[in-house]
This record gives sequence, C-alpha cells and structure tokens, in this order.
Amino acid sequence: MTESNEHDPIITISHVWKYFGHLPALQDVSLEVSSGERVVIIGPSGSGKSTLLRSINRLEEIDKGEIMVEGQDIMSRENNINLIRRNLGMVFQQFNLFPHKTVLQNLTLAPIKLHKLSREEAEDRALGLLKKVGISDKANVYPAMLSGGQQQRVAIARALAMQPDIMLFDEPTSALDPEMVGEVLDVMVNLAEEGMTMICVTHEMGFARTVADRLIFMDQGQIVEAGKPDTLFTAPRHPRLRQFLNQIL
Ligand code: ADP
Ligand code: MG
Repeated sequence: MTESNEHDPIITISHVWKYFGHLPALQDVSLEVSSGERVVIIGPSGSGKSTLLRSINRLEEIDKGEIMVEGQDIMSRENNINLIRRNLGMVFQQFNLFPHKTVLQNLTLAPIKLHKLSREEAEDRALGLLKKVGISDKANVYPAMLSGGQQQRVAIARALAMQPDIMLFDEPTSALDPEMVGEVLDVMVNLAEEGMTMICVTHEMGFARTVADRLIFMDQGQIVEAGKPDTLFTAPRHPRLRQFLNQIL
C-alpha cells in the first residue's frame, strides 16, 4: 500500500458518465479536489450539479468512469460504501432532519450508533456543535419549532457530528427565506476558515467569491469552465458562462 500525503487529491472524479434513461446527466466529468480545498459549483438548473454531488457518496450510481474518495474506489465491491460515507457529510436544500427527534437527538443518533459513543460523549459533542452553529438554546426542541435557517444550521451540525473529512453542500440556502440565508452562509464560511474540505453547489455568488478556491461552471452535464472565482466572474471565456452570469448577477 502506498502512503498518502497531503498533496494527494482527497476526491478524484475521472471521466464520469451518468444516464437517466437515455439522458446523460453527467458527460465525461473529471475533477480533482485536494484536502482543504473549497470548491463551489454553479450552473443552470438541470446541469447535473446535484447528480455530481450525489455520485460522490454513491447516492447515485455512475455508469462509467471512476470516483475515488480518500484513495478508495467508491464503486468497488471491496470497499464498504457505508464506511466511506461516514467521512462525507452532506447537507441538502431540504434540511431532512428527523422530525420526531429533538435537535440533540438528531445530532447524537449516528455518533452513538456508528462511532459507538456513549450518550454522554455524543451529547457533549453535539452541544459543542450546536454552540458552533449558534443554537445551543434549541437542543431540546423539535425541528418543527425552528425557523428554516435554524433547521439548516442543525442539519450542518448533524453532518459535522460524524466528524467528516469532507462536506458536500447542495444548495443549502435555496429553500430559505432571504433573511435567513446569511446565518447559514456564516456557518459555512466559518467551516471553510477552519480548513474543511468543501464542495458547495450554490447560487450565492458573494459566498463563491469569498470562499471558493476554485469555481466550477457546469452546463448540460459537463464542466464547461473552472478557475479562480474572480477570473470566472470578470473574464468568463465560455459564452454559456457569460450568459449564465448575465442572468443571475
Ligand atoms: P441540477 O442539480 O444542476 O439542477 P440535476 O443533477 O438535478 O441538475 O439533474 C441533471 C439532469 O438529470 C436533469 O435533466 C434532471 O432532470 C435529470 N435527473 C436528475 N435526477 C433524476 C432522476 N432521479 N430521474 C430522472 N432524471 C433525473
Ligand atoms: Mg440540484
């Protein structure tokens, strides 16, 4: 076995194709993400952004190509996808909290079951995370009692409770009322500053500009352009990116 080092990519996506029926949702997509890198993916609706994110933790099964996460081929039968997934935190547009569990229970369930933590250890970890996302006072309430922004912060804390190496965000602020977007982005900015490896699909261009090491523009299942956010915003090369930016900025 070869030793990994910090310069190795933590995720390698090579020539990936994914079809829904005859429709190619991903067409020959390749992308390498290094440890600690912040990648932001933008692109029009239907361009394959969610399919790409979901393929990384095998919520979608790719048809061709290869995806390596921390040196493991996620499609290989020899690798346990459940173990790989524990290092991949995912946050969705819809918060997907367990409605009949309290906030604290939402955060302690998986660590108790999968990390074999005692209840006390799991609660300590959970309370630390709730403090980090600014909702310590809501530990014992049910998700329905919370605003959308608070629910999404709980969802982020729940993902972090498994101490993942990588966080995947799929439009985490798209379902929120505008006044709640900032509180969720703040949590994501803090995570980025702590050095978390992140791949974020978002339409928040201010966030992309401040946080992204690399901005990726997808269209029709392909990565059309990638580079420093400033470069893509100020000097987009591809006409489809220019058109997209004109529509959203
Ligand atoms: P985005 O996240 O960029 O909006 P998606 O990855 O959700 O795009 O979708 C890419 C394409 O794949 C779209 O044409 C979409 O309709 C199609 N698609 C996504 N999920 C499914 C599915 N489960 N079944 C059939 N088609 C799908
Ligand atoms: Mg999507």
